[in-house]
Amino acid sequence: MKVDIAIPKTRVDYLTYNTSDDLNPGDLVVVPVRKKTKFGIVINKNSKREVSGMRDVEKVVHRGFIPKNMLTLYKWLADYYLTPLGEVLKVALPSKILKKYEFVQKREAVHARVRAPTPNYHQNVAIKRISEAMDSGEYATFLLHGITGSGKTEVYIRCVEKAIAKGGRALVLVPEISMTPLLFERFEERFHDQVVTIHSTLSDKERRQIWHAVRDGRYHIVIGPRSTIFVPVPDLKIIIVDEEHDQSYKEHTRMPHYNARDIAVARCQFEKIVAVLGSATPQVESYYNTEIGKYQLLDLKERIDSRPLPAIEIIDIRKEMRPYISPELQSRIEQTIRTGEQVIIFLNRRGFAASLMCPNCGFTARCPYCNLPLVYHKPEKDDKASLSCHICDYKSPLRSRCPKCSRGTLLYRGAGTQRIEELLRKTLKDVDITLPEEHMMVVRLDRDSARPKGNMHNILKAFERGDAKILLGTQLVTKGFDFHDVTLVGIVNADIILHLPDFRSGEKTFQVLTQVAGRSGRGEKPGTVLIQTYHPEQYATIFGQLQNYAKFYGTELMSRKDLGFPPFSKLILIRIKGTEEQNVWNEAERIYALLQKTGGFEIFGPNRSFYYRIRKQFRVFIVLKLNKNYPHRRLKFLKEYRTVKCQIEIDVDPIDVF
Ligand SMILES: [Zn+2]
Ligand SMILES: [Zn+2]
Repeated sequence: MKVDIAIPKTRVDYLTYNTSDDLNPGDLVVVPVRKKTKFGIVINKNSKREVSGMRDVEKVVHRGFIPKNMLTLYKWLADYYLTPLGEVLKVALPSKILKKYEFVQKREAVHARVRAPTPNYHQNVAIKRISEAMDSGEYATFLLHGITGSGKTEVYIRCVEKAIAKGGRALVLVPEISMTPLLFERFEERFHDQVVTIHSTLSDKERRQIWHAVRDGRYHIVIGPRSTIFVPVPDLKIIIVDEEHDQSYKEHTRMPHYNARDIAVARCQFEKIVAVLGSATPQVESYYNTEIGKYQLLDLKERIDSRPLPAIEIIDIRKEMRPYISPELQSRIEQTIRTGEQVIIFLNRRGFAASLMCPNCGFTARCPYCNLPLVYHKPEKDDKASLSCHICDYKSPLRSRCPKCSRGTLLYRGAGTQRIEELLRKTLKDVDITLPEEHMMVVRLDRDSARPKGNMHNILKAFERGDAKILLGTQLVTKGFDFHDVTLVGIVNADIILHLPDFRSGEKTFQVLTQVAGRSGRGEKPGTVLIQTYHPEQYATIFGQLQNYAKFYGTELMSRKDLGFPPFSKLILIRIKGTEEQNVWNEAERIYALLQKTGGFEIFGPNRSFYYRIRKQFRVFIVLKLNKNYPHRRLKFLKEYRTVKCQIEIDVDPIDVF
């Protein structure tokens, strides 16, 4: 019998082999590939493919290794994201999973007795509708739109309870690896050792053990980041995607450029189960899907215990002598701390200064590979002071004298979290606030302070316990954390949240600001948000809409319609990159010609990427704007397109278009 076998890491859908065994789709086998042997998954039996020099399957490792529904999902993914099945398997079935089968140690159960909060009216409606959908045994997707602090997690927990009561299992996706421990604790309090999490601090061995234990049905709830969507869970009844708008659901760095939220919806369709997508700031496309009847909308219209949303105030820092922490923000921070409450300060840039410049000749230190200004980092932990490129991680030692004119002394320009931390420590030192011993005034949370792994959790825990008064950080602090004593959120510079040329930039700004604002006033006391900006008029619309999703959605949808952007079209981004500039452009032109021959859609480009050079690679992109009904699988030829001395990346439904 001839069988088609998909092999992880090969750039084709599958290869065809001979076998005398009665193999079935989903079986795990070992096959020869060139001079090596590799694991493969049987895709089709009784293949009709004609192949010369066909080889034999060497060994059958595990029959029925991949359940049928998961195979369907993998094949769909390869089709949809224009990626060879072999590459899909590389992501869905990492090689470490395929190593020897081992049994997992049972987790120590933590039997903390917690009193479950009583759901309010809106929460009850949501729980009821989702449960009914699970009972029906049909596919359904719900968009759980709940303003910040409205108790989405409790809705998730109740629905999972119902799924388990019906003999089912649940999968919960969270955007950031850092959020897994906090959400995990909420679930563990209620479900004890029935819940397992897959996170970045696990060793390969632990990950493998958990993967197999989950596949064998040992756990009822699996919580994890985007790649968890590929884990086979038997008798799955519900998939929950928390913070569905979050960009970390999108695989940015390698093909397939999948969005775990969209795969969750597809998986629920295949398995005839229920998907719940939750967010305070849904992606425009998701909300639109509720309007056209693809998803069902569930609204949590009020905060728990009818707490008010925080008040928002704009501070114009154009004429401010102290633009980083304005006197207004400073005095509000002091007031807040004096009353024993907590503060979150947000600035979307790590490091000390955004750049170093020579006042004499205007020289700015730049990355030799990407040509972007280098960010100055002060010495910290084991790191020396350095100038670092935030795109490629290039580091250069610090010089104080200008290398160009050798006359000027380089000056700091702009502030990052390190500088704000230093400022806060300085200004708050003279304020007569006595903190209990071992308490800190400020803790900083960004990619630097979060190292090594696990440190982020410690920082968040310290702040949650109240051991620190101010949590200062980058976008990491905007995630769905629930700190009850935070009554003030300060946004140091709203203008640097985004400066990228993208049709989503308005949406992204709205999401980040609304999310960070939503950290304020989640406990019994009402909250305030202070937003510092150099461009109060430019952002007037967005500021006016903060925390009012309907208003934002209305204007945003209208502009998308005018410009023909998603949800009114489908985008595919094709990126060509390589070290030889001319070659990259030639290749882009060749692909452009092929696309033009295919026809039936608009083609933009080839253009320089916003980051034209990263790590010595030149980057050029082409964007296709397709009619929503265009069968984009017609572009299948791109999947196995071979470039000369450069790489091609295809991103279906891109988040960033530059
Ligand atoms: Zn100079
Ligand atoms: Zn660089």
